[in-house]
Amino acid sequence: MRTIIVNGTVVDTEPRPHVVPDATVVVEDGVIVSVGPRPDVLPEGSEIIDAAGGIVLPGFVDTHRHVWQSVLRGIAADATLGAYLDLVLGTLTPAFRAEDVYAANLWGAIEALNAGVTTVYDWSHIQLTPGHTDAAVEALRESGLRAVFGYAHRGTGDADRAEDEVRRVRSALLPSDDGLVTPALAAWGPVYGSVEAARADWALARDLGLRLSLHATGEGPVERLHDAGLLGPDVLFVHCNGIPDESLKLIAGSGGTASVAPAVESQMGHGHPETGRLRSFGITTGLGVDTVTDVPGDMFSVMRAAFAAGRAGQAAPELTASDVLRMATIEGAAAIGMDRRIGSLRPGKQADIVILDAGAPGLAPVHDPVAAVVTAADTAAVDTVLVGGRIVKRGGRLVGVDVDRARELAVRAALHVTAQARTTSAR
Ligand SMILES: [Zn+2]
Repeated sequence: MRTIIVNGTVVDTEPRPHVVPDATVVVEDGVIVSVGPRPDVLPEGSEIIDAAGGIVLPGFVDTHRHVWQSVLRGIAADATLGAYLDLVLGTLTPAFRAEDVYAANLWGAIEALNAGVTTVYDWSHIQLTPGHTDAAVEALRESGLRAVFGYAHRGTGDADRAEDEVRRVRSALLPSDDGLVTPALAAWGPVYGSVEAARADWALARDLGLRLSLHATGEGPVERLHDAGLLGPDVLFVHCNGIPDESLKLIAGSGGTASVAPAVESQMGHGHPETGRLRSFGITTGLGVDTVTDVPGDMFSVMRAAFAAGRAGQAAPELTASDVLRMATIEGAAAIGMDRRIGSLRPGKQADIVILDAGAPGLAPVHDPVAAVVTAADTAAVDTVLVGGRIVKRGGRLVGVDVDRARELAVRAALHVTAQARTTSAR
């Protein structure tokens, strides 16, 4: 199966975002085979995508999102982190049935694809039963999204650890690291949980070949991991607001990576987004939506939040639009350990590709395609999306997925969860 994308303005992101002049993108069996001059004769039997008037770029990589919260959209807009934890994790989480998780993950994955986000690290702390886990993975698989399924234990206490479940996810549910959905361990770490539990989780993850990711802010978590000898290149630190310089040095020295959720952090009081400091220490940094309980689920909004926060209050800001697009693509892919497979249009990579309609109002005229993507584009401009060469959106419409069914299931789940939570909290 060969797909050829012609006539578009191609923006590759590796090593840095740049326009590839007069480029045609050729995809074979889901893999990019060439990005270069148009062949004189287009091989017969190829699917031709005419991207005239469009910007062709690698799909966005979201390095941190709780996909199951798609059915809680906007439910905590005014909440600070503490209020969010009380409402969402304390009150709403226990009301989710397995079928609600299926509906929420499917709807959340569809939302990502529609916005040109082709890969999501799904930090999934809704594993109340094995059935919830099966449902979460099933929905991700069905959606066609490329996802890292980060399994998190059902609660933060030592007794909530479910080693057997992590092993089952690895051996039975997601045994391959080459598929569209791959496994990881989303760890509470020595932030919400104990150092002993962290030691056990790190040993388990490393035994099973799973990368680790934890939420970490301020002084404490990095130091505790360092003291326990647990830092390493397989650890992704989420947020990182207020982490002292010495600790950022430790992360950098260990090869650890970071994920910043600038919109959520600005809104919920985590502290100033740390993209600038993280990058100044040489830490590979990706971007994330985090949760749609408070912010939109597209990377355009996240890029804008990162760009604004990264330059706020600076007389000579260093962060550029190009840096931001890099974090939303190849650097994000590196942050989750997937840059050999995705994040740019290099031949040999998976064909995760987005085509934006650059003629859209609010986007034309395009003087600088990189700036257009970062400062002006939005989900409405996302015309075509491919994941692993498979077309999931074309002509501005999602294909191969029943959007009406998914919406109905999501609304039903939202109604159940909120009604159940009201009943429980009224007791
Ligand atoms: Zn989070």
